[in-house]
Amino acid sequence: MAGWKQLDIGVIGGGIGGLSVALALRRSGHLVTIYERADFAGEVGAQYMHAMLMECAVGKEGEGRAARLLVNHACESVDSETGTITFKNGVKAIHDLVIGADGIGSVVRKAIDIHPVKKPADSSCLHANVMTEDAVRLGLVDYSQHDALEYWGGQEGKWDKISWGGQDRPVEELLAPYPNLDAQVKAHLAIGIEVQPWRLWVHEPYPYLTKGKVCLLGDAGHPMMPHQSQGACMAIEDAGALGVLFNKQYFNGDIEESLAVYNSVRLPRATRVQAAAARAAYNINERIGFSDNKHTATYKVENEKAKLTIEEMNAYDMFMDIEEQLAAARNVPFTRNFIKGMPE
Ligand SMILES: Cc1cc2nc3c(=O)[nH]c(=O)nc-3n(C[C@H](O)[C@H](O)[C@H](O)COP(=O)(O)OP(=O)(O)OC[C@H]3O[C@@H](n4cnc5c(N)ncnc54)[C@H](O)[C@@H]3O)c2cc1C
Repeated sequence: MAGWKQLDIGVIGGGIGGLSVALALRRSGHLVTIYERADFAGEVGAQYMHAMLMECAVGKEGEGRAARLLVNHACESVDSETGTITFKNGVKAIHDLVIGADGIGSVVRKAIDIHPVKKPADSSCLHANVMTEDAVRLGLVDYSQHDALEYWGGQEGKWDKISWGGQDRPVEELLAPYPNLDAQVKAHLAIGIEVQPWRLWVHEPYPYLTKGKVCLLGDAGHPMMPHQSQGACMAIEDAGALGVLFNKQYFNGDIEESLAVYNSVRLPRATRVQAAAARAAYNINERIGFSDNKHTATYKVENEKAKLTIEEMNAYDMFMDIEEQLAAARNVPFTRNFIKGMPE
């Protein structure tokens, strides 16, 4: 595309979203710096996906220049007009484009004047790490042999909930209301370390994802309940969209145009998934998975027509969605048989 130019891009946050976008933009020919507040060297139990993305984003191998990763760089504020980032350690940096991938408590979001309207969810998560050797020694199922989720809870078509009562409540007390919980799960929790409830929040959709030289990505831009298993997927889709929009085929040097299209492609889709995740938190039939759940005797959803479908998640063509929105922005016809990324 005529006008394409290499950008110097700052990504705030080195989670799944931040690493994915660093990878996507490196492949599109840009110079990327990731600023992470934590020191990953000290992190316990790093996830496979995170480690793999890290290697792809900052490793020497692969297309484009390896992204730089600067740890111990907690962002304090961002000036959306100039692209200036100020860090708590006193460092300042200026970039052509700043991507806020700093998670649910995003500082970057605040910097672009978005103030979440949120309420505590009815349900909470119970987080625990289990050492494989402890489980094996006690004759429990060794879940580490498999790389997929092993246990699904819920009853009568609804999710069960564990009430929130503070970080230091013992496991027995947290699980007291669930005498029928699977014995394997209970046994694993009993030997779990770092057991603690995670409070979940339901956020109202945000009004926009971009302002000036800044855009939001992943949980920073559309935090959602975990019940649809789509938070990381949406962060990766955001990253993919930015990688496509700023690649040599589509980017004409106009950052503002690309960010406007990013907003119009990503906000409606992520918001729709976010709403579906909130419904799935209290009704498992709203959840998409390998089937649409319609075979279950207790199947009932709020509005069949508005339900998130497997097709719209899996048949979605982001290139078509981006081409359609870019065509509208550039006032040229879009002639493919797709509407918002879905085949007609
Ligand atoms: C129980 C549970 C189960 C889930 N299951 C799934 C699933 O099955 N499938 C799925 O797709 N998703 C799932 N998710 C959601 C998924 O984990 C998140 O949506 C995803 O990790 C969000 O990635 P992110 O990069 O946007 O944010 P984060 O992972 O939160 O990363 C943000 C990064 O930014 C850093 N940071 C924060 N503030 C600053 C700052 N000021 N300066 C610099 N760095 C900063 C943080 O240290 C962190 O590294 C689940 C979530 C939960 C809680």
